[in-house]
Amino acid sequence: MKMSNLFVQTLRDYPADAEVVSHKMLVRAGYIRKLTNGVYTFLPLMWRVIKKIENIVREEMDASGAQEILMPIVQPKELWEESGRWEVYGKELMRFTDRHDRMLALAPTAEEVVTWVAREGIKSYRQLPVNLYQIQNKYRDEIRPRFGLLRGREFIMKDAYSFDADQEGLEKSYEVMAQAYTRIFKRCGLDTRMVRSDSGAIGGSLSHEFMVLVETDSGENDVLYCDCCDYASNTNHAQTQPVPANTDGGFSKCEVVSTPNIKSIEDLSAFLKVEPSVICKALVYIADGKPVQIMIRGDQSLEETKLKNALGANEIRIASSVEIAEYLGAEAGFVGLKNAKCRVIADNSVKDLKNFVIGLNEKDVHQVGANWGIDYELPELFDVRLSKAGEACPVCGKPLKMTQGIEVGNIFQLGTKYSSKMNAVFQDVDGNEKPFIMGCYGIGVSRTAAAAIEKFHDDFGIKWPKEIAPYEAILIPVNINDEEQMKIVNELYVSFQKAGIEVLMDDRDERAGVKFKDADLIGIPLRITLGKTLAEGLVEYKLRMTDETGKISPDKVLDFALDYLRKDRL
Ligand code: ATP
Ligand code: MG
Repeated sequence: MKMSNLFVQTLRDYPADAEVVSHKMLVRAGYIRKLTNGVYTFLPLMWRVIKKIENIVREEMDASGAQEILMPIVQPKELWEESGRWEVYGKELMRFTDRHDRMLALAPTAEEVVTWVAREGIKSYRQLPVNLYQIQNKYRDEIRPRFGLLRGREFIMKDAYSFDADQEGLEKSYEVMAQAYTRIFKRCGLDTRMVRSDSGAIGGSLSHEFMVLVETDSGENDVLYCDCCDYASNTNHAQTQPVPANTDGGFSKCEVVSTPNIKSIEDLSAFLKVEPSVICKALVYIADGKPVQIMIRGDQSLEETKLKNALGANEIRIASSVEIAEYLGAEAGFVGLKNAKCRVIADNSVKDLKNFVIGLNEKDVHQVGANWGIDYELPELFDVRLSKAGEACPVCGKPLKMTQGIEVGNIFQLGTKYSSKMNAVFQDVDGNEKPFIMGCYGIGVSRTAAAAIEKFHDDFGIKWPKEIAPYEAILIPVNINDEEQMKIVNELYVSFQKAGIEVLMDDRDERAGVKFKDADLIGIPLRITLGKTLAEGLVEYKLRMTDETGKISPDKVLDFALDYLRKDRL
């Protein structure tokens, strides 16, 4: 493709509304254009990248034995009622009404539809296992669709669904997908960590996320990982070992002390001259409309996803001071366990507290020297604590590190969650009806492209991994009025195309500086420049990923390019 014909407009500046690197660069380099919040047009360069990722996904999914289908984006409400998710999916589900007043939704995912497909088409265990997948647009009315392709309201997802006759089969299907995913991301030039995760709205028991660990602040997930073993986990699921601390308040008797206007853990600890780790902190949340009180050690913080799972709630939020007064008759900062008026749970961290400090549901006083079993019953215990960097790895005990991770894929063991509710059954060997044992497996295709940029870029632009770059090489004649340059560049252009290299030629009548800037910005892996060095019979090359440069004679360029671009292809 000649640059003079390519439909691309690079911008001088980054867009003002973009917060993350990938969004900034994709807009500035002319890959995408925003139509409305979270909804983008994929311009030619972007669409080439997307198609390359899709092809890799397709090849690996096909190789794993999965079969491609295409399900509708428009899904009827009735199906979502069968699974029970019409109610619980919440505001992210984009719903609309047709002219006959029937309610429909735009697919955020396709468990319901694929379960219907299986219910209609699979009758006997002989037809199992089956894995069906599609690459299709998805729609989610995200609260903050502000990170470009990382979090769109319309985006491209590969979603696969496995159907097995038993749990053993599901585990096999799950493992096959886990391996396919690792290969898919590797071929996209991305190292991923497979981390245990929260199953969220999709549900089911076991799930893993595939995370690209990045240094940029991509606004995505905090990931705790271990350098010494394979352990890695989203912080919303991490289960680190208990944090050692002094848990004995050392008070010789249990008594009420005056703590005028002392509400925060910090102030209370300073005022009483005790460590925060001997204070039994109370937090109040509203879970699906009802108040719940959570006790946690004063030096620890709460993890909301863990809390949501512990409570089995659909929606939680922190209670306001007005709600605390209304529901508990207490003032925020003085909440305790005395005459508790709502459900109380506790984090494991409070278990070992002795002679501790706690609120009394009474303004301006706290109790010191309290003990479980004497002053209070230990509430029901859960792990709802936020794990932090430096805490001990649950596998090998070494200190964990924290980084940002972008979730590019997610795999779930669903079991019979959908098949039971939707009565999707088959006949087993003995002729009994059984619900399918299902798994589901997603890859954010458009998010993967953005994640690659978050991982690989510099101040000048994108550094595409070779296999997903929109073009593999760019030829730049410094001066298009120089006949010698144009003769050689045209020869190279033809020979690259014949060899199957996807090549751009910058034939624009622009200054060399402009051409170099654009090549760096759009991130083409191999740049060949024809300029001054032609006098010595050489052209210059530059590898975008490593910044390596060198000179080479024109008749060696093709072999050099083929070698560099194809050598470690999986
Ligand atoms: P997140 O937690 O990031 O909102 P999710 O866990 O809800 O994502 P899944 O239901 O697991 O997402 O969807 C499968 C994959 O689709 C995700 O791993 C991710 O790569 C991609 N994806 C999900 N939501 C979006 C979005 N709004 N924009 C782009 N890609 C997305
Ligand atoms: Mg997910």
